[in-house]
Amino acid sequence: MTCAFDLDHYRELLEAAKAGGYRFTLFDREPRAGDLLLRHDVDLSLDAALEMAELEAGVGVKATYFLMTRSEFYNLGAPSGDAAIERLRGLGHRVGLHAVHPDAAIDERFDPVLAWHNPDPGYMTEPVEGAVNVMQPGFFDAEHYRSDSNQRWRHGCPHEQLARGELQWLQLLVHPEIWVFPGRTMGETMLAMLDAERERRLDRLRADRIDL
Ligand SMILES: [Zn+2]
Ligand SMILES: [Zn+2]
Repeated sequence: MTCAFDLDHYRELLEAAKAGGYRFTLFDREPRAGDLLLRHDVDLSLDAALEMAELEAGVGVKATYFLMTRSEFYNLGAPSGDAAIERLRGLGHRVGLHAVHPDAAIDERFDPVLAWHNPDPGYMTEPVEGAVNVMQPGFFDAEHYRSDSNQRWRHGCPHEQLARGELQWLQLLVHPEIWVFPGRTMGETMLAMLDAERERRLDRLRADRIDL
């Protein structure tokens, strides 16, 4: 098994966690032994989030998707944003806010759960009024946390440890874009995402009755 950042290995990772006996839980209570909190910070692409969400639903897995209202890359306020939220919920996933500090305004589209985008250490683990901060004590500590940021696992890909049930519980942060778009490096993957984005925008232009 190669630990590639692609959907085949993502599926293997989920199957490994199931084989290890983990329960896929949400951020509505503090984690206990045997829990796997699957967290998706959606930084760049709603399409990638939806593709990952469909795969997860196909293998019976639930996750929490953290979506941005202030993204530089997608517009959650557009009809496509509404449709994305509806689809994610329809597949059984939860939707939280991927917040840009200090704006923690959680409206009716979101569950009361928040993950800061690129947080500074000064507020990263501080509790937030009216919502669970995924990095607050009880939900987060370094020993029970793995992240795929920039296609680099700081402690290696966790699939083997999950398959063996070695981690008491885990908050696993997975960024959909870097698994859904092809590429052997983060740079290649981002260029593939931009190619797909160009096609998506061309479709949008046609739908907007722009003569191409
Ligand atoms: Zn792996
Ligand atoms: Zn982020």
